[in-house]
Amino acid sequence: MHPWQRPQEPEELRTQRAALTRAFVKEHRDTGKTPSCDWPKVRNAAGEHITLQTLLSDHTGQHCNYCDSLMGYSSRDTIDHFLPKKHFPCLAYVWSNLYLCCDGCQRKGTRYDKRALRPDEGGYSFSRYFRYRSNGELSVIASDETDRERAEITVEVLDLNDAKLVKDRRAAFRVHLTPRMRPLRPGLDAQAASLRDAALRHSFEDKPYRDFFVQDPEN
Ligand SMILES: [Zn+2]
Repeated sequence: MHPWQRPQEPEELRTQRAALTRAFVKEHRDTGKTPSCDWPKVRNAAGEHITLQTLLSDHTGQHCNYCDSLMGYSSRDTIDHFLPKKHFPCLAYVWSNLYLCCDGCQRKGTRYDKRALRPDEGGYSFSRYFRYRSNGELSVIASDETDRERAEITVEVLDLNDAKLVKDRRAAFRVHLTPRMRPLRPGLDAQAASLRDAALRHSFEDKPYRDFFVQDPEN
């Protein structure tokens, strides 16, 4: 889970939120089912009308807010309610409850825990709570007891060590990171090595699981 700075709430959502929420809550109550959300089109900085998914996706660098996989690498983008709309219908259109989410993370369904970490909460950083292992697993490393508990809850609620995710991370690790960790070949001097590292790093946003690149993974 890569840290994220949430953009300002789109004007269109802010002005329509009350009416959309009323309609949602009514349908939820009348039918006993959880309705789909009717997201308004929003305007980006260039004044173009785009979907809310596109707006969020532009702000996450096309990465899932939870598992950090690159959209398109493993799935489509969808909008997730951190506190599920099934249990919290009044939060269905609340901006701070919405996150960009891949298909895999959507499979968590309506599981939730208010203690789970959020990528946009103050003081959150990946390395405070987690590290990736080169086998693709996510380990909790937080030493503070509360931090540790919240990190463990997050892994469980978001299923961040799901078998497919672990396999995908291992594959990404092999493709993108292993060459950097190999010993220098004779004749490849330090300057050449730093150029090689820069080339590998320059498309950071294009890589899945960006936190691989901001730490020294454990072997
Ligand atoms: Zn995901």
